[in-house]
Amino acid sequence: MSKRIVILGAPGAGKGTQARAICEKLALPTFSTGAMLREEIAAGTELGKTAQELINQGCLVPDEVINPMVARTLNSEKFAEGFLADGYPRSVAQAQNLKKVLAEMGTDLDLVINIDVDLEAVVGRMLHRAEIEHRADDTEPVIRHRLKVYHETTEPVVEYYRNEGILLEIDGNGTIEEVWERIEKQL
Ligand code: ADP
Repeated sequence: MSKRIVILGAPGAGKGTQARAICEKLALPTFSTGAMLREEIAAGTELGKTAQELINQGCLVPDEVINPMVARTLNSEKFAEGFLADGYPRSVAQAQNLKKVLAEMGTDLDLVINIDVDLEAVVGRMLHRAEIEHRADDTEPVIRHRLKVYHETTEPVVEYYRNEGILLEIDGNGTIEEVWERIEKQL
């Protein structure tokens, strides 16, 4: 069974929701780099201060910040037997770093699930979520910028994993239940 999994998808693709369902089904611990950064911000750490402005502008936090954070996480006891990563990697450089970190631990990814959605459709979903969650990076200009960053920097990661032969493509259009059914069938 797949134990080391990455979930990919545009902002608003429903990644977080499907990640929770996958973890429950496979009894895997999960981490979200976005959630970890928001915790650092809430705690007022140096790392949080560096990250805050970039996140609020919809830009990526630099690899020098993110990569060591992920390496520490993966080396902790909690994730020794497997994990589901949400929000990482977000660039081909991060994907290469992840491969290196896992290789140093004598392991590698088993599966990458890409939740594929129509980018224009997610803007509406995200604005709706913004009304509920009040995240500082969920205003329309910032959402548009995040989608641009996704298209330019993160989408190539899908191709990277296709070439690695571990990519599972899921049609992310439709309801949460419809998307979950498609994923569950493949697990
Ligand atoms: P979403 O998937 O909806 O964009 P996340 O919670 O995954 O939300 O990420 C929020 C923000 O946190 C991103 O826009 C980015 O600024 C920062 N971030 C999260 N993960 C990474 C990462 N792997 N590399 C760089 N920045 C990141």
